[in-house]
Amino acid sequence: MTVGPSVEQWAAAVAAVRSTGLDDEIQLICHVNPDGDALGSMLGFGLGLRRLGFTRVRATFPGDFAVPTPYQRLPGIDLLVPEADAFAGPRLVLVFDVASESRLGALAGRLAAAPAGVVLDHHASNTGFGGVQLVDPQAAATSVVADGLLSRLGVPLDQEIAECFYVALATDTGSFKFDMTTVSVHELAARLIATGLRPGEISRRIFDSKPFGAMKLTGEVLGRAVLEPAAAGGQGMVWTYATLADLERHAQPPYVLDTLIDPVRSVAEADVSVVVKQTAPGEWSVSLRSKGAVDVSGVAVSQGGGGHRLAAGFTGYGEPGDVVDTVRRLLDEYLN
Ligand code: AMP
Ligand code: MN
Ligand code: MN
Repeated sequence: MTVGPSVEQWAAAVAAVRSTGLDDEIQLICHVNPDGDALGSMLGFGLGLRRLGFTRVRATFPGDFAVPTPYQRLPGIDLLVPEADAFAGPRLVLVFDVASESRLGALAGRLAAAPAGVVLDHHASNTGFGGVQLVDPQAAATSVVADGLLSRLGVPLDQEIAECFYVALATDTGSFKFDMTTVSVHELAARLIATGLRPGEISRRIFDSKPFGAMKLTGEVLGRAVLEPAAAGGQGMVWTYATLADLERHAQPPYVLDTLIDPVRSVAEADVSVVVKQTAPGEWSVSLRSKGAVDVSGVAVSQGGGGHRLAAGFTGYGEPGDVVDTVRRLLDEYLN
């Protein structure tokens, strides 16, 4: 049985923040290739620290400083700096939506070296790295944990913090559709909306706004999808892939493929869906989804990745066919 943070862990996290001077350096870090939960939980919490009077707060993530266009107008975006401009030796490091140290890239050392560190996360696959662990596998998003810590610090929600947390919550629940969409998720959403934010406008801007080229690219990539009814122990698997050349041909940045898994996983004949996205020559970011027959986080973790029972990912190597062969074999092992 998985449980959330203990009373002692919450108290330790509050103490880590409270024992930090208002002019001390605080570095917030989220995972590589950040999504709405990574950025939303981090920036919302960063704004909360500002409300408490902390003057030196920076937020960052490892790797290319490419912020997906929809997130570029998030409140608190001015806290965000490229990895190279992160504090070299911050007093306090807080980490958001990161299941394993590998997702921190070269910034992992920053957490390890800091006098105080807090890990806010909700991945069942969290490896238990870092300082104070605020890991709640029952939480639908890391922003649920971030909200829990801000409220324990006595920071009231305002509309800017709420917008960040709302984007995070809506991202990780598939706009309040997934299995994690509990009563408490809707209660948090209600508190966020009560600050005055407009869910329709936010959803259009964040989820329902794409360049024309992204639609054409999606059409092409969906057109090459393969359905394998016998895979995953007869529960069916559907997969497709996208290359850097595909992105280039349509003049699109990689983030436009972040949601490609959604139409793929809607295929009724397959329990498992797979999207293989090229990140470099011979290197692929693999998205896995299940409708319930398979714990895809097991498959991802066995390949050095992570995630949740029904949504997980890992980095694959070789040709897309090789990556899918590996997934097919692991699914068969898992189901036999
Ligand atoms: P995605 O398919 O990229 O939307 O990711 C689905 C889930 O898997 C998210 O919870 C990610 O945090 C997790 N995930 C994706 N890729 C990796 C990876 N390379 N290592 C660890 N976790 C990952
Ligand atoms: Mn994430
Ligand atoms: Mn998340």
